Amino acid sequence: MSTKQEIGFSVEAIRRDFPILSETMRGKPLVYLDSAATSLKPQAVIDAEVEYLTKISANIHRGVYELSERATLMYDRARETIKAFLGVREDGEVVFTKSATEASNIISRSWGLKFVGADDEIVVSELEHHANIIPWQEVAKSTGATLRFVPLSADGSFDLEAVESVLSNRTRAVAITGMSNVTGFCPPIKEIVAAAHAAGAVVIVDGAQLVSHAPVDVAALDVDFLTFSGHKMCGPTGIGVLYGKRDLLNAMDPFLYGGDMIVRVKKDRATYKEAPDKFESGTPNISGAIGLGAAIDYLSSIGMDAIHEHEESLLRYARERLLDVSEVELIGAGDSGMAAGGIVSFTFGDIHSHDIGAILDSEGVAVRTGMHCAHPFMRFLGVNGTTRASFYLYNTRSDVDQLVRALDRVRETFA
Ligand code: PLP
Repeated sequence: MSTKQEIGFSVEAIRRDFPILSETMRGKPLVYLDSAATSLKPQAVIDAEVEYLTKISANIHRGVYELSERATLMYDRARETIKAFLGVREDGEVVFTKSATEASNIISRSWGLKFVGADDEIVVSELEHHANIIPWQEVAKSTGATLRFVPLSADGSFDLEAVESVLSNRTRAVAITGMSNVTGFCPPIKEIVAAAHAAGAVVIVDGAQLVSHAPVDVAALDVDFLTFSGHKMCGPTGIGVLYGKRDLLNAMDPFLYGGDMIVRVKKDRATYKEAPDKFESGTPNISGAIGLGAAIDYLSSIGMDAIHEHEESLLRYARERLLDVSEVELIGAGDSGMAAGGIVSFTFGDIHSHDIGAILDSEGVAVRTGMHCAHPFMRFLGVNGTTRASFYLYNTRSDVDQLVRALDRVRETFA
């Protein structure tokens, strides 16, 4: 098991913060290797939500009474926490959504349908999660714009030159992931943003995996939009974030219309507030936002650099151990030399990933199997799904050892 000295923080202490890790699964200690799908929640996040639900409960931005004002304060504080965490400089640039998926749809519909035209091109990559590809297919369908795909290397990575090869003066938007949910591959975002801007394009980064696992500074990266979900970073489900540059957000139309986003309403028309309120119509997920604020406080107290380093070290160890298993073929873990987060995908002989997942489950090991909401990428890789183990701050080398031991059971079962 990793020690404090090796990685800069004590995993044993971290594990005590996550109540579910003391549970057993099928009579065995839980080995949770599916944080890329959703992470476990520390007690601090559970407590923050419970505190709001038990002691506050009131709506925000509406009441003039004490409880409502306290709710507003907690909700607004969570936004400030996110702002500091992402290095956001301006007010009005952090919008609460229900998920990364919703954030992506807000950008594609409220920005894309308004600002992309029939002669324009939208650059995406085949390795995108469906949440960052289907919304752009729909924009292309509605506007007549063309989708251009970044050419991928055999291991599913791509570099700046690959992106430049599909940029032109017709490129209006570049929508790419910050970290692949299938392979953990991290494209060189900063360089891509600079090249896309030079071509006159707006850059949308799907940060659903990146923001949870590595430090992100939106001002330094100069991204135009960034999306992510709370539940993948120790926060609650049902809360996500859309970061957008203020001018872009304010030029967009609202996504949902209703209460709390208006300046004035007449019988036949209404005027709207600026971002973020303009995109937060109706009662938001107040406890979710507060829980996400607590999750970010928790991660920040450990340090995103330290978390990233820990995951990289686990990833190296997992690759080494898995390469020793003769039936295992690592997917997308080539020698591209590109940065990668704590995700490893593999196939095991010709055994279907769902069968592997079920056997691993019987050993208390939770992994994701199947297509990972990335059908085009699976087709590109020529596989009918993979088994994916993904790591977070609470995972240890012994979790990896347990995974490898459980693969012996797969071999025995299919022998
Ligand atoms: N983008 C990536 C890379 C993801 O991995 C996911 C979820 O797995 C999403 C977007 C969508 O996130 P959510 O389901 O929380 O909206």
